[in-house]
Amino acid sequence: MTETYLRLTRVAPLLALAIVPCTTALGAQEPGPTAGGSADTASAATDPADVAAEAQPAFQMVRGFVTTADRRPARGLVARVKTSGGEQASEVNSDGSFLVIAPMGEGDVEIVVDAADPAKRWYFPSWVSLPVSRAGREQGFVLVPRAWQIPSGRYAEEWVEVNLDKAFERISPTRPESFFMWQIDGSVDVTNRDRPTSWGLESLPISVLFDRDSSTWTIEPVDSTTLWKVLDSMEQDFGLDLFTPVRAEDVPEGGPQADRTIRIWVQDELGRYVLGMAGSEHTEGAIRRGRVMIRRRRWFRDHVIVKHEFMHALGFGHTCAWPSAVTGPMCYDVALDVASQFDVAHAHLSLNVNALQRRTGARNGIVAAWNGQKRVMNAQLTRAGR
Ligand SMILES: [Zn+2]
Repeated sequence: MTETYLRLTRVAPLLALAIVPCTTALGAQEPGPTAGGSADTASAATDPADVAAEAQPAFQMVRGFVTTADRRPARGLVARVKTSGGEQASEVNSDGSFLVIAPMGEGDVEIVVDAADPAKRWYFPSWVSLPVSRAGREQGFVLVPRAWQIPSGRYAEEWVEVNLDKAFERISPTRPESFFMWQIDGSVDVTNRDRPTSWGLESLPISVLFDRDSSTWTIEPVDSTTLWKVLDSMEQDFGLDLFTPVRAEDVPEGGPQADRTIRIWVQDELGRYVLGMAGSEHTEGAIRRGRVMIRRRRWFRDHVIVKHEFMHALGFGHTCAWPSAVTGPMCYDVALDVASQFDVAHAHLSLNVNALQRRTGARNGIVAAWNGQKRVMNAQLTRAGR
């Protein structure tokens, strides 16, 4: 089991992340026709039957499936594969499956799932690079839309632009913290596409309890009333049933009920400038328990402090990239007392993508989409701007 902690302190100024450029986008090719769920390829020069008959490794077969985070049909998509031997593309079938027969090469294999027509790109391109030895197994992709409509709550029906560069933007060049930081075990400089660390949608509402035994101050009944006013407000921000109260005596430590809980207590020895701290325990990417410590009992009524720490307990890191309830040390002075629409949209997105990855076994989700934004979309913008 792994534990992660973030603390809320006071400090100073923001420097932005230098955006990482840019590999060459893979060459597109007109896809061939498809029928039903069968895969087809764009290779006109070679009969796959001949390939099988020869049984030699002249071709890299890449098969996979595509789902979408917003549950729209996977239409107008193409899968592209690039090896040192060349490039090939194939249409994604109506059932989300694809098969690309690319020239065999040496070294890594790049796979991109993208809109066949970049002008009609609703989803971020999903980019992954794999050793040849792993490219032969089924490749699952959960595509991330470029805008997210918040379904309910404070921002009901608002469309928010999804910006993964910003969601992964470090709060400073020297601190690898970002909004999605916890999602990938603390590193934002990744090219992999493993499942992130998060609660599952199925875990909601998460049970919240006061841990009186750990508290350095006596917790009174009024503290519960005060805290739940703030948490109710946070649920309204999100439009989600995030939390539900439980009594500590109903959740024995070590018992199965202790999973899906966030424990909160007063901890007055957090350090001079630390207002609160939050942590989580996770196993194989799934957060099982969260903890929130607040330095002063009276701060249970403080929307900025409580929402900040509970955002961490929900699995999100700091950001200075947009107005937020979970600002980093470089931008605490602009912290909001509500989760912003950017917080909410990117949190919704993450919960949905991660839930789909767990359900389908797809290894490529938000990190692959972020790589697609950097390596395909940003590269095209750079070329267009020349
Ligand atoms: Zn924090």
